[in-house]
This record gives sequence, structure tokens and C-alpha cells, in this order.
Amino acid sequence: MPERRVMTVGMVCVDIINYVVRFPDEDTDVGSNSPLEVPGGLGNRCLDQQWCRGGNASNSATVLSLLGANAEFFGSIPQGDLTSFFEEDFRRDRVHVDRCPRLAARTPTSCVIVSAASGTRTIVHSNSDLPELPADALRRLPLREYDWIHFEGRNIANVNKMVEYVRAEREKNPELKLTISVELEKANRPELDTLFSLGEVVFISKDVAMSKGFTDMESAVRGLKARTLPGSVLICPWGELGAAACLADGSVVTSEAHRPPSVVDTVGAGDTFIAACIWRLRRGDPVNRALRTACVVAGTKVGVKGFRPLP
Ligand code: ADP
Repeated sequence: MPERRVMTVGMVCVDIINYVVRFPDEDTDVGSNSPLEVPGGLGNRCLDQQWCRGGNASNSATVLSLLGANAEFFGSIPQGDLTSFFEEDFRRDRVHVDRCPRLAARTPTSCVIVSAASGTRTIVHSNSDLPELPADALRRLPLREYDWIHFEGRNIANVNKMVEYVRAEREKNPELKLTISVELEKANRPELDTLFSLGEVVFISKDVAMSKGFTDMESAVRGLKARTLPGSVLICPWGELGAAACLADGSVVTSEAHRPPSVVDTVGAGDTFIAACIWRLRRGDPVNRALRTACVVAGTKVGVKGFRPLP
């Protein structure tokens, strides 16, 4: 049997990433030839623009593949002007997409502004009509070909049903050795909370942790662990401070961040962190080692545009 696949379930979109000197003032016009110093104002300029394949699950699949895993993305792929862009990009990154539904729809986009001055990335996302995966989407898939399925925190009602299905299949077929992980990324979406109890590995973003009143990563994982399944691991990356995890026995482990020579592009840092964590946990590494590696890989990523080269 070929090496088992790790599958990330979620969304693919186009990221239009604008790298600017600093975050623009409202109602200004920033171009690549804008003068850097203008009388009476702060200088700004668009340093670069890239159109790339994005989306959390799509990014994590890319990173898993670049790290050497047999990676698959599973989500709706829009059929339209950009179909070949998606297909070729997935092929280049050796990410399987053969089982994805392909649907006529407008392409979801994320317009991103990356500020060199502050190192922030600001995202405006739009999805007009690309349908999410239906609740029964996994029923057609040969689950024995996978050993890990990771769910992006979206399409919550259907993700709950998909996980329920995978769990039931695991119980019926003990030969299915499948780990489930989930990501809670967006803050202030109460419906996301159902995901806490779905995975054996649960990733929460700093935004989610802060929206629940936590101001540091250790107290976040310690304080939120009770919401997860017994035996599970709760992991929380915290930007330039690194990451923390609360283990099944309630103990907390942390890793410092890995600082690149300069912060160039934080788009997809969290997706990279998750991918690298899964990559190591899948190999059986202890959580503290997985956190360390994930911080090194994600820290390396924020030092480059896009996802290449990774360590
Ligand atoms: P996102 O911006 O996608 O929400 P995070 O800010 O949570 O992602 O960062 C994920 C991981 O990326 C962190 O745990 C850290 O390892 C790495 N990282 C993010 N920003 C930096 C930074 N400025 N310097 C070094 N590492 C970083």
C-alpha cells in the first residue's frame, strides 16, 4: 500500500498579497511608483504584489507536502477563469486534489496587505458563491488511505458531522488508524466552540484565546484544556512569542519562537505552524519536540515570501 495520506479539509482561495512600506491611510492611492517621501505626508509604496493560492487548509497541505508528507487538500475547487491556476499550483506543490468536488462558482479571494513597518498582515476575504463541503463529503473517500485528517475551523455544522462520521468508521473498523485534528482560528464565533471537543489535537489561535479573556499562551492552553476531549492535546501558537500546548495529563509545554533575520511575510504563519506540528506528531514525536520544530519552520517561513525555502 502506498504511504498513507494526510488530508487537510477546508478552503482554497486566491490571495492577492500587497507588500507595502507601511499600512496605508484610508482614501489614499499606493502604487509601486509612489514617491517614498511626499510633502506633508508619510511615504508609502507597494513594494511587491503576488497572486498565490491561499486558504488555511490549502496552505497547510502545501507545507506538509514541502516537508515530505503525502499530502492531500480536500475542499471545493471553483471552476472558472482560475481553474488551471489552482490545478497547476497544487500539482507543482505535489498536493493531491483528485477527490475534491469541482464546482462552477466565483473564485473566493483574500486581499492582503503586508506592512514592512509593522510586520502585520491585514486580510479582507470574500466568498460570493462557492459552496462549502456537504456533511456527507467524506463518505465517498477511502478512509483507510489516510492516517491523519485535519479540519479547518469553518463550515462548522458540516465539519461536526464529518468528524462524527470518521469517529463512527474508526469504531467500526479498528484497522483504521486515523488521527483527527481541528483548528479554531476566528475569534468571536461562538459556533466554533463545538470544535474543541472534536479532535485528538486541537489548535487554537491567539485571537481565539484572547477573545476568551486570556492574555498569554500558557494560561490559554491551561484554561481551555477542560473543553477538549480527555486524552487530547491543545496547542496555541502565539506569534513572535512561540507556542504552548497543554497535554493529556494537564501539563503545559512551550517553545520559543525562531526569529528570522527579518520578518518579511507572516501570511500563512499559523497554517505553516499547524502543518509542521502535524508532520512531527504524525511521526510519533513528543509534543514539546513538535512545537519546537513547528516554531522553527513557521519562524523560517515568516522570514521569506510564500513558503519557500523551508528548513
Ligand atoms: P497567524 O498570524 O497565522 O495567526 P501566529 O501569529 O499564531 O500565526 O504564528 C504562528 C507561528 O508562527 C508562531 O507560533 C511562531 O512560531 C511563528 N511566528 C509568527 N510570527 C512570528 C514572528 N514575528 N517571528 C518569529 N516567528 C513568528
